[in-house]
Order: sequence, then C-alpha cells, then structure tokens
Amino acid sequence: MKTKAAIVEKQGGDLRIEEVDLRDPGSGEVRVRVEACGICRSDLHAIDGGESVRFPAVLGHEGAGVVDALGPGVETLAKGDRVILSWTPACGTCAPCARGDVHLCVKLRMSADPGGPMTWDGTELDRFMALGAFSEHVVVPASMAIPMGPTIPAPQACLIGCGVMTGFGAATNTAEVRWGETVAVIGCGGVGLSAIQGARVAGAGKIFAIDPIEARRKAALQAGATDALDADGGVAHVVEATGGGVDAAIECVGRSETMLDAFRAIRPGGRAIVVGLAMMADTLSIAPIMFLTERSIKGSTYGSANPALDFPKLITLYEQGQLDLDSLVSKTRPLAEVNEGIAEMREGQMTRVVLTF
Ligand SMILES: [Zn+2]
Ligand SMILES: [Zn+2]
Repeated sequence: MKTKAAIVEKQGGDLRIEEVDLRDPGSGEVRVRVEACGICRSDLHAIDGGESVRFPAVLGHEGAGVVDALGPGVETLAKGDRVILSWTPACGTCAPCARGDVHLCVKLRMSADPGGPMTWDGTELDRFMALGAFSEHVVVPASMAIPMGPTIPAPQACLIGCGVMTGFGAATNTAEVRWGETVAVIGCGGVGLSAIQGARVAGAGKIFAIDPIEARRKAALQAGATDALDADGGVAHVVEATGGGVDAAIECVGRSETMLDAFRAIRPGGRAIVVGLAMMADTLSIAPIMFLTERSIKGSTYGSANPALDFPKLITLYEQGQLDLDSLVSKTRPLAEVNEGIAEMREGQMTRVVLTF
C-alpha cells in the first residue's frame, strides 16, 4: 500500500512528508494505522547523528494506533484492536526473553534490520527502534503491538510506548522503590516526570526533583515530587536533607555529570539508576572507594519492563487517576507539522509534543 511518512534524509536535516510504499504484513506481523506518536528526545538525538540510524530513515518510536491488517499466523490480535507500539521485539526465544528480561531481547534494534517493509522510490527506509512511527501506517511483529483497550485516548496512550514506561519502570522495576523510601530524580522531562510518578505510586516518602528549568520543577511538583530543586546545589541539599543521601537516585538526563550527581546523592547502600542516554564516547569517573559503602550504580533500559504485562498496568493506573498522562501532552500537532514540533521539543520547555494523524 501507499502511506505517508516523515523522512529524514541526512544527519541534521529537516523531515519531509512523502508518500512511501509499505508491504503487507508477513508471517507473525501486523499493520497498524498510527493515530498518535510522541516526539521523544531520542528522535532528536537520532536526527543529530547521536544514535545508530541509517539515513534515509523514518523516526518515531512512541506510537499508538489501530490494527488494520494481520499477517499469516497472528492469533493474539484482531483487526480493529487498539494498540500501543513497543520497541522491544520480545521475541520470546532468546536467552534474555527466556529469563524474563524482554527489555534486553537480543533482537532489539535502534536501527532496523535490512529487508524492512518500507521503501521510498525503491530505496529502503530505516525505521528508528524498528518502528518508524512518524508514519500513517507501520508494519511490525505482533509482539510489538500491545493491546490498550477501548478508553484511553491515543495521544496519552502513545507516551506509554517509550517515555512513560522508561521513567515509571526505572523507579518501580529497576530501582524497586519501596514504600517510605527517599528518591531523587535528576532531570524532569517526560521520562523524569514519569519516574517521579513511579516513585509516588510505589509509595516513596520523599521525592526530590532536580532540574535547572523552573517550568519543569513546577511540573515535577504536580507529578508528585515533594521537593523541587535547582540543579545548582540540588544534590548537596538532598544529601543534607536526608542525613546522608537518598535510598535511590534516578538520572534522566544522559550526561556523565548528572550520572555522577545521582551517585553522589545516594546513601551508603543506596542505588543510583542511569536512564539517560549518553553519547557513545562519554566516560564516567567514580572514586572506587565509594563502593566500600555498598553504593551501586545500574543502568535501566525501557524501565526494565515487560511491555505485555506492564503497559496494561499503566493504563489501569491512568484510568484510576493515579497516573497523570494528560499533563505530559504539552501539545498535539498534525504529522505535517513535525518540524515545528521538533523545534518546540528542542527548546526544552515542553514535556511532549505529540503528532496526531
Ligand atoms: Zn523514546
Ligand atoms: Zn528475545
């Protein structure tokens, strides 16, 4: 079929909306008519060349829509099912999948394997995170389309597909925040605000939000932070206020300095969780004597989530009013205004601009 997608032809380039060819879903695949797709910071990174993407590419990895065609052998989904796209293939057969770590599935790709379903004038298009959801339709394995039920609006639901799961899961799954614990979240964009909500839902006693931008600190308080601090002096304040550091600190920026801040913010025996995506060449320098007091630092991918289990839980929390997705959607724009949306995301004031179709 023909569909419309936003193509980025070269590093740093603007996106252009073009008609592309999308082959029918093959064995085990479904076609999804995309209804909404958030513009995530990783998309900006990909445009700038900070991720492994082959140009020309279709970005967009935070999508939701409706299944409109099934390939042979798909029994878990039906035409008309509303779904959130997940960027882990969750193949079910590799070693990580077998042990339950589907977020570490060996088939997970930033850059799709060659032989993908989308071409433009005969040239194959790469699809970021093997999704490429800045497009009216995508063809993906059925395991990457998670049912979302009839009620949640698509612009809110799509955020679960990346930013919300990543942040919320970093607090609940990776950091395993327990009730009454103290938590610091460094960086309060869409992921950080979701980490704050994860800590709140887990029952954290104190949640310190650290961000240099005042609008984000306000949003952090609204999301459930008990204290919002400027980046300048924030960590020192946290250590003092907790009498030696928080139980868990979650870094959602992607810079080595803020990762170090997360490590400095934790108490002896505390855990620092790194969510932010660093540049390939970055290094982190930690005085190893700090490990004498059993401080730990750990990465977190996709909120250590199993999307098939965790997306429905997040939808339930949304429906119960415990998870605020509405205020994460700063603005919606049609696909044709993708470049304007990207420019707004770059300014840093907006939590999420969501493209609607
Ligand atoms: Zn993302
Ligand atoms: Zn796997």
